[in-house]
Amino acid sequence: MNTSDNALEFENVAKTYEGNVEALSSISFNVRPGEIFALLGPNGAGKSTLIHILTGIVQKTSGRVCVMGSDIDTDTINAKRKIGLVPQELSFDPFFTSRELLSLTRGYFGLAPDKEYEEELLDIFALTPHANKKARHLSGGMRRRLLIARALVHKPEVLILDEPTAGVDVDLRQNLWKAVRNFKAQGTTILLTTHYIEEAEDLSDRTCILSHGRVLALDDTQKLIDQMGRDRTLEITLNQKLESIPDELKPWKPRLKGNSICLSYAAGKVGDLLAQVSGRGWSIDDIKIHKDDLEDVFLKLTREHDEVVAGNGSE
Ligand code: ADP
Repeated sequence: MNTSDNALEFENVAKTYEGNVEALSSISFNVRPGEIFALLGPNGAGKSTLIHILTGIVQKTSGRVCVMGSDIDTDTINAKRKIGLVPQELSFDPFFTSRELLSLTRGYFGLAPDKEYEEELLDIFALTPHANKKARHLSGGMRRRLLIARALVHKPEVLILDEPTAGVDVDLRQNLWKAVRNFKAQGTTILLTTHYIEEAEDLSDRTCILSHGRVLALDDTQKLIDQMGRDRTLEITLNQKLESIPDELKPWKPRLKGNSICLSYAAGKVGDLLAQVSGRGWSIDDIKIHKDDLEDVFLKLTREHDEVVAGNGSE
């Protein structure tokens, strides 16, 4: 029975790996029941560490973690049962069929087979025609869908998707998100990590931005964009990639994106920036202006934090 109002609770969770690598520095936040919660962060931010702590793969150094009110240290079995994990890697025994893998996974959780539900999952993830094929004979996309079906077979209350659509084509990605939205509609709480910021923007109710093991921002996804993304971005596409960013442009928080350079400015204050740009003699292919989106907010926050961390390191 969940006596807590939260689906997940992380309280002062810290992790220092051997060699004094601090991956998480006293992190606290909650995930609410029934929401889709996105965890965003650049490589090395600590996302995998957090998810591995939650699923018992990594031991935290300190802090408290609860899943639907069950403490992962003192009520481990219940906490584990309430979680369905979709890992990054396509990992399962290649010699079992999709149908067998679903039954076996229920067995791991000490649950009797539930044929009706197992068949429903095969159907939801378009695996019924392939249910008797061994996993090693399934395509990458089918395996990816089987991983999600397997994570759901014991009817967990919280589904964790660790970079679920990395390397997945656009059609499959859309299908997976549709299935995820359906499970949310049925009350499943979803925690996802993703590289695809526009997915967090489209899909998540709330977003947590993590960098160097710290929470930089956490809010309703739309609020985060509205409050922090009030600036505009000027995106200038050049006919060749810039070798380096001119110092004079630093006040506009420049970010390179392929052949483009993105510069932030406060709404209505584009004059100085345009003067700087036009004096550079660049060969410009295109200019676009857009209101900051989640990606811009993310890049600005993590970039500012990187500078602070670099500054501390040189003390
Ligand atoms: P992310 O998933 O956001 O890329 P990780 O949780 O994998 O971040 O890594 C966070 C930090 O912890 C990084 O500095 C990484 O090098 C370090 N780290 C991760 N796993 C280990 C490990 N097993 N041993 C030592 N350091 C690790």
